[in-house]
Amino acid sequence: AKAEGKARFRVFDAALAERVEARRSLETELRCAVRAGEFELHYQPLVDAHSGEVTAAEALIRWRHPRRGLVSPADFIPLAEETGLIMPLGAWVLHTACSEAMRWPAAIKVAVNLSPVQFRDDRLPETIEDILRATGLPAHRLELEITEGVMLDDEERTLMMLSRLKSAGVGLSMDDFGTGYSSLSYLRRFPFDKIKVDRSFVRQLPADPESAAIVRAIITMGSCLGMATTVEGVETAEQYAFVASEQCSQVQGYHVSRPLPSPDFLAFLTDQKAA
Ligand code: C2E
Ligand code: CA
Ligand code: CA
Ligand code: CA
Repeated sequence: AKAEGKARFRVFDAALAERVEARRSLETELRCAVRAGEFELHYQPLVDAHSGEVTAAEALIRWRHPRRGLVSPADFIPLAEETGLIMPLGAWVLHTACSEAMRWPAAIKVAVNLSPVQFRDDRLPETIEDILRATGLPAHRLELEITEGVMLDDEERTLMMLSRLKSAGVGLSMDDFGTGYSSLSYLRRFPFDKIKVDRSFVRQLPADPESAAIVRAIITMGSCLGMATTVEGVETAEQYAFVASEQCSQVQGYHVSRPLPSPDFLAFLTDQKAA
């Protein structure tokens, strides 16, 4: 039994070593990719639930890997966060999103995701103001999407940073609403303009009565608090009809459009205008 245990341990060891090695090589590649500029942003339209017009687009990062092809953020953002590479990467995302949005009609805002790790740098608000100045994008055209992870770290510091960004005129959205532990208390304490209803509540709409009740309640709560609501992950015409009839502010999801490379997003805007 002892020998067996040892053998099992060796197998486990080998698997672990392999994982450590895979991680290390991904880290090296990620580091080079930041320098080589292998990233691009795709833009997913957010439409007004009543008029159907595009009011904003969410910037979503993609890694165009020379061998692996297009890599999804789920496969490298966590590592970028652990290694600190999210700092240069996050600044690149902000700068690129703001400068590309300067080429869109002025009524269309750009939404950028921020990692909790970016908030560990006290200069984040300054960095964002510098980027706005450098690109010429008016602050009200930038929306920052923040998850509960940001609030968990150091509440006081986070609150100060968010308040400063808000006074600068930047919009603040609470992302993935309803998936964390304390979303409601954060909503009261932090100066959000908008709630993004998490996709998990949308998946079973409109058939599932519990999902319907939750989405309806979040939209009502948002409107009582003076916050806009975006429902994300809307994939079907039925889901779109449901959330629009519940009076959410905006809709985002494959039913409207998948995230698009920049030229395709511009073409989408032109087509919409023509339609
Ligand atoms: P998220 O912020 O919740 O972004 C929405 C995700 O849902 C995107 O996945 C988008 O492509 C996907 N999505 C949109 N509509 C639908 C739909 O109708 N159905 C389904 N099934 N999915 C839909 P993506 O682009 O893979 O991004 C995943 C996550 O990676 C994002 O979740 C965000 O947390 C993170 N992320 C993406 N870009 C950035 C970035 O620039 N910085 C940081 N820190 N995180 C990012
Ligand atoms: Ca988001
Ligand atoms: Ca989200
Ligand atoms: Ca998410």
